[in-house]
Amino acid sequence: MKAKIVITDYNYENLDQEKEIFSDLGAELFDFQCRTEEEVIAAAKDADAVMVQFAPITRRVLESLKNCKVVVRYAVGFDNIDLGAATELGIRVVNIPDYCTEEVSEHVVMLLLAIARKLCPLNQAVKEDHWDFKVMKPVQRLKGTTVGLIGFGRIGRMVARKLSGFQFRIVVYDPYVEEALAAQYGVEFVDLQTLVGESEFLSLHVPLYEETKHMIDKNVFGMMRKKPFIINTGRGGLIQEEDLITALDQRIIRDAALDVMETEPILLSHPLQSYENVILTPHAAWYSEEALSAIQLFAAKEVERVLKGFEPRNLINQEIENSDALRKI
Ligand code: NAD
Repeated sequence: MKAKIVITDYNYENLDQEKEIFSDLGAELFDFQCRTEEEVIAAAKDADAVMVQFAPITRRVLESLKNCKVVVRYAVGFDNIDLGAATELGIRVVNIPDYCTEEVSEHVVMLLLAIARKLCPLNQAVKEDHWDFKVMKPVQRLKGTTVGLIGFGRIGRMVARKLSGFQFRIVVYDPYVEEALAAQYGVEFVDLQTLVGESEFLSLHVPLYEETKHMIDKNVFGMMRKKPFIINTGRGGLIQEEDLITALDQRIIRDAALDVMETEPILLSHPLQSYENVILTPHAAWYSEEALSAIQLFAAKEVERVLKGFEPRNLINQEIENSDALRKI
């Protein structure tokens, strides 16, 4: 019988690469635009493999996927998948970790410079026939100021590398990586309180999971001493949004540049839309034509590997490899 592959949702222009790979595999591909658990269950309940972008892959959904051997997330983060439930049920969960490290780090540098050098108000003033550098006052020289990176994995490290020419002091908080990286990247490892207290710029590069949800909340805003600029390309849920709004109102922070929101897309009526000192981009940091092509190809190749009986390259729940629950191909 032909293997059945279901794409629960996607916002790509086409599925040409997936179709080619799965047709060579002799599998059938079905694609949907599911938003809810019910829609995913209806679409994927008898699938052998599921590919997902934003749709919820909850315990309830996973329990209904009786034939599913693998769920592949079209992304680095996998916060819409109940990893614990998948592991219990013997379903492999796979992400695509390295397709957009260049793009996200470029986006971070772009946002940092845009908020620091007041790109948006300057551009708007000139377009409104107001030719005056004083629109950007006050702006400080960047050299020698402190950038704090929370999370020092692939993207955090690439940001440090790309920022090195600006001669910032870069401080890092990541309790899970070797301190030896400090010398290699020209950064200092510090604790979270020191980092938020000493940074003029803060950039978030941790995954969203239980431990990091709302890690930037009123307590952490309360430790900020330098009125920092905040950049978030990680996940919206890392920051407690109400506390962010309070911090903006109380001028505890200067500006914010956010590529990710707790609920996406952000509504026009969302309070953050009205702040002139908040730049918003639509979860776009990952995008380039190269990254777009890579993620679709890599995700399809992971499904192909599993359905051919091999293990995927980027198995997240590696502990299932030795588990009796692991679903056989
Ligand atoms: P990564 O796994 O290489 O790095 C994450 C780092 O966070 C790791 O070094 C880990 O030790 C650290 N970490 C985990 N928990 C922590 C904690 N509590 N405190 C401090 N550090 C902690 O991931 P990456 O490739 O660098 O990506 C980082 C995140 O960026 C992803 O999880 C994803 O959510 C986000 N992302 C966003 C976009 C976008 O388009 N906006 C694109 C890709 C990735």
